[in-house]
Amino acid sequence: MAQGNDQLSLFDSHCHLNFSDFDTDRAKVLSQAKKESVSHLCIPATKHQEWLSLIKESEVISKESSVSVVTALGLHPWFIAEHSLEQLDVLDKLLKQRPSRVVAIGETGLDFFDRNITPQAKNKQLTLFTGHVKLACLHQMPLIIHSRKSHDEILKVLRKFKPESTGIIHAFSGSEQQAKEYLKLGFKLGFGGGITYPRASKTRHLAATLPIDSIVLETDAPDMPLNGYQGERNEPGRVKQVAECLAELRGISLMEVAEATSHNCRTLFRI
Ligand SMILES: [Zn+2]
Repeated sequence: MAQGNDQLSLFDSHCHLNFSDFDTDRAKVLSQAKKESVSHLCIPATKHQEWLSLIKESEVISKESSVSVVTALGLHPWFIAEHSLEQLDVLDKLLKQRPSRVVAIGETGLDFFDRNITPQAKNKQLTLFTGHVKLACLHQMPLIIHSRKSHDEILKVLRKFKPESTGIIHAFSGSEQQAKEYLKLGFKLGFGGGITYPRASKTRHLAATLPIDSIVLETDAPDMPLNGYQGERNEPGRVKQVAECLAELRGISLMEVAEATSHNCRTLFRI
């Protein structure tokens, strides 16, 4: 075995470290993450105002903290009222410059959780999501996709455009059938704190049985606290506990989980 292979190295594929929740102690959170063997993390944008600062911050944090930070640029469906198609033109121009540390397009997707969502709001989400997918095809970049009550609609768009650089379905908690449809399209599934809850038996079963090369780890910090930390701010360092949980569910070592999932992220993000 080559030297250095016994070093645990984890990749948090989805962490909103730029949110104000971390303004008072970001450096501490990063050094804690480093202590928990996090070597890489990806910060996806949620609004256009974040794009330029995320490019800069990823650069600065990577230099200062020894955690390698990459970023994704996109428009999150939760803030749909603030987004416009013109912003996607701006994103297109920005991506043409191939900014360093930008490895994916996202966070984008569809969120139909609210039963009272209007047809207009649904349509706007669909138009913007489709716009992101087209940009992913054009720039040959992977997508980071948020999906709630919308897997069938997301799959329909992905089947139509077949983005070659694929992407991640973040915080996956759909059915086995939907998981397999994503895998057929080459997508990876992101598992996070959700799998630490015993009641999440369906998602835990999928995390335990799907091919390991289709799985990436995430925290979605500051959201999605792990079991035992309900009501607390989530942190990227806790991706280690997600990895430990996955190792236990699959009956393999923590090292095997770390190696496979980090490799999957690095291959997808081409880093
Ligand atoms: Zn997110």
